[in-house]
Amino acid sequence: MKKLIKSRFVIPMKGKVLEDAGVLVDGQKIEGVYSCPPPDGLEYDELIDLGNSILIPGFVNAHTHSAMVLFRGLADDLPLMEWLQNHIWPMENKFVDETFIRIGVELALVEMIRSGTVAFADMYFYQEVAAEVIRKAGLRAVLGEAVIDFPTPRFKTPDDALKFTREFIQSFKDDELITPTVAPHAPYSCSKELLHKSKALADEFGGLPVLIHVAETQDNVNDIMSRYGKRPVEYLDSIGFLDSNIVAAHMVWLSEKEIEIFVEKGGGMVHNPSSNLKLASGIAPVHRYIKAGMRVSLGTDGAASNNDLDMVNEMHIASMIQKVKEMDPTAMPAWDAFHIATQGGADVIGLGDKIGTIEAGKFADMVAFDIDAPHLTPLFNPISHLVYAAKSSDIHFVMVNGRILMQDRELKTLDEERAIARANELAEKIRMSDSGN
Ligand SMILES: [Zn+2]
Repeated sequence: MKKLIKSRFVIPMKGKVLEDAGVLVDGQKIEGVYSCPPPDGLEYDELIDLGNSILIPGFVNAHTHSAMVLFRGLADDLPLMEWLQNHIWPMENKFVDETFIRIGVELALVEMIRSGTVAFADMYFYQEVAAEVIRKAGLRAVLGEAVIDFPTPRFKTPDDALKFTREFIQSFKDDELITPTVAPHAPYSCSKELLHKSKALADEFGGLPVLIHVAETQDNVNDIMSRYGKRPVEYLDSIGFLDSNIVAAHMVWLSEKEIEIFVEKGGGMVHNPSSNLKLASGIAPVHRYIKAGMRVSLGTDGAASNNDLDMVNEMHIASMIQKVKEMDPTAMPAWDAFHIATQGGADVIGLGDKIGTIEAGKFADMVAFDIDAPHLTPLFNPISHLVYAAKSSDIHFVMVNGRILMQDRELKTLDEERAIARANELAEKIRMSDSGN
C-alpha cells in the first residue's frame, strides 16, 4: 500500500526546505521525496493532500517520565531535591502501580501525539505495562525501568530492578516500536557498583542506550564532589561509564574539562530547558556544547516539572533562553533548535538510522503543521515560523511507522475522552490523599 503525501512545504532535515513537495510512503517506510507534480509514472494507491502545511520529521522527546502527567501541577515552585524527596518520591510510593502507569501513559500519549512527538525516551516504572500501551497507540519509545539504590514503588532492591530489566530487554529486544533498555537514575542515587552493573547489562545486549540524569543542579555536582572528589562527568569517566550510548539528561553544570571529556567519549546529552527553568536548576550552555561537537537532543522531562510534554514549546524555549544565556541573538538559531528536537534526538537515543529525517529508506514518522492561521501569516520563512511562532495546536497530522495516528486533528489509535476521564478519576484519589497530609 503506497501513499503519496503532499504538502506546501516539506522540511526533511536541517537546512533544507522543499516547496510543493510530496513524500511517497510504502508500508512503514519512506520510498522517496519529490517535488510536485511527482515524476511521471509514479504509482501510489492513495493521495493524502495536506494542503497549506509544513511537513517535518516528527519530534523526538529524548528525556521524559511519561506517566508523571498524573502529578502535573501537584507540587510547583520548589527546588529539585525538596520537590523530589518531600513531594514526588512519597507520592510515587503511594500511588504508582500498574493501573497508574496504564492510565498515565495513555494520557501522556494523547498529549504527545497532539503535540507532534513520534518517539521518546522514558525512565520510569512498570515499563512492560507502558510498552503495551505505547505499542497499541503506535508511537516509538526507548524504555528503561528506573534503577536506584533505594526501594522504588515497584522493587525493594536495585538488584530486583536489574533482574527485571534483563527480562524486559529479552522480551522486547526485537520489537518494532519499543527499544527496551537500562536506566540508572543518577550518579548521586546509584552506587558505583550499580552504575557498573547497569552499563554492563546495556553492553551485553549490543550497546543499548543508557538513560541517566547528570549534573542537573549545582547541589548534584557538590554532592558528587564531596563523595568522590570529582565532578560528575569526570567521575563517570573515571569509572569507565562513558561512551556513545550514554543518554545524559540535563547536564546543566559542566566544567570546560567535562565538556571536552564528554565530547571525546561521544556521549549524547538531553537539554530539558523548561524543567531546568522551573526548578531553577540553571541553563545548560547547549550552544557551546553544539560548538564543541557534542551530540545534543531535546526533552521535556516529566510533566510534574515542566508542566507539559509539548516539544513545540520546548523548542521555542530552548532557542530563546540560549540567546539570553549567551547575550547573543545568534545563539541557538531556529535551525539548531529544530535539529535538536528531531534528528539530534533520534541520534542521541539510538534511532538515528531509522528516523529523525524525511529520507528514502527511513521509517515514515512525520508531522504536519497547518499554516492557515493568523499567527503564521505572512510566511516568509517556514523554519522561522516553526520555531518562533507555531503552536502545537497547529499540528493536524501525525504518522509513525507509516501508520496515521492523527488526521484532521482526530486521533486514530487512542480514545481521548476516555483517557482524560480515567486520569481525572485517578487524580481524585491523589487529591483526597494530598489534602489529608
Ligand atoms: Zn528526568
